[in-house]
Amino acid sequence: MSFRYSPSENIALLRESATIAVSQRAKALKAEGRTIVDMGAGEPDFDTPLFIREAAAKAMHAGATRYTATEGILPLREAVAAYTRSYGPLAADVVAQDVVISNGSKQSIFNACFVLFGPGDEVLVPTPSWTSYYEIVQLARATPVEVYGSRERDLKVTVEDCERAATPRTRGIMLNSPCNPTGAVYSPDELRALLELAHRRGWWVLSDEIYRRIAYNGAAVSALQVAPSRENLIVIDGVAKAWAMTGWRVGWTVAPREVTRAMTAFQSHATFHTAAMAQHGAVAALVNRDEADRAISEMVAQYRTRRDAGLAVFATAPDLPIVRPDGAFYFYVDVSAACPGDPDAGTTFAKRLLEELGVAVVPGVAFKTPDWIRLSYASPEADVVEGVRQVVALWSRMRAASGSLAVAGG
Ligand code: GLU
Repeated sequence: MSFRYSPSENIALLRESATIAVSQRAKALKAEGRTIVDMGAGEPDFDTPLFIREAAAKAMHAGATRYTATEGILPLREAVAAYTRSYGPLAADVVAQDVVISNGSKQSIFNACFVLFGPGDEVLVPTPSWTSYYEIVQLARATPVEVYGSRERDLKVTVEDCERAATPRTRGIMLNSPCNPTGAVYSPDELRALLELAHRRGWWVLSDEIYRRIAYNGAAVSALQVAPSRENLIVIDGVAKAWAMTGWRVGWTVAPREVTRAMTAFQSHATFHTAAMAQHGAVAALVNRDEADRAISEMVAQYRTRRDAGLAVFATAPDLPIVRPDGAFYFYVDVSAACPGDPDAGTTFAKRLLEELGVAVVPGVAFKTPDWIRLSYASPEADVVEGVRQVVALWSRMRAASGSLAVAGG
């Protein structure tokens, strides 16, 4: 008997995560001895603050090594609820029973999509968006519907954009501010308008707020601060980005009770729960507000310095279109003028950038906008400046070459 693998129907449309693939390729090249400026994965380069690491180590030594509740340890769910209540009146009744702790906010999004959407359902995805939204919606056998934001609005979507894309099958919308991959931040009014639309139309809202604390004009607004109600609202957050805790895998949802119950049941068969000691670390991260706020402010100040340093280099190429990021830690850059006629300019450009110049970035095709590339500036300032310099130099070179070819050919 010989076996030949053929993918199940569940993963018929599945593509590997491009953000993760790029960072692994960068690591492999580094292991071969090449000098690589890694602006691929969106991963803070800071260490998790010491007080959090110490709390987790202490908990582990005290015996936090066993199974926990599926939905997470009560002190962590209480800490998340208290943190969320501080958002304001709409969140005033959030309690531990509204919270599920998962293995990173990626799993929280997966849980939510899986229990809310299914075959025949359409989910609006403001585009560009993080690569995994499209894949996760598809894994739930629903259809992600790309809603493109206009350049004048930093690729953010409006109510009109969403209304044009909606059909009677629309069941939900993904929101993400600050946005991965653009760094654009929705104003309170912009977000409120989208939330009102979703409420009016009976759509579930998944608001991914993982970058909320990383914003350069004060914390970005949470959906819980401007929504008309939280009956259709699933807020997703976690400690990975703002607290520099990517490897801990602690994310959460704050959701209506029935949805929370369904996600808990689903998770009880999937991963059960996230690591006990990681949950204790996350308790420390949320409960020690002052210490955490200080650590986050210091990191955000450094992201801002790096952003400004990168923007100063971009300013030397005023024709190169970029989104000016007000949050998260990404530059989103339209490189299509370097590859005229290429339907996947971002990939062509990113390949040359990595193989010839040793700078890793993510092609925009992963975010359904193939003319673009994403650079993460969660790296030391010198790397950010060097990476952006190489992007600008390669773009100028390729654009000039394609211009002279066009002239020669014409
Ligand atoms: N969210 C980060 C990114 O967009 C980390 C990798 C991933 O899970 O996609 O790069």
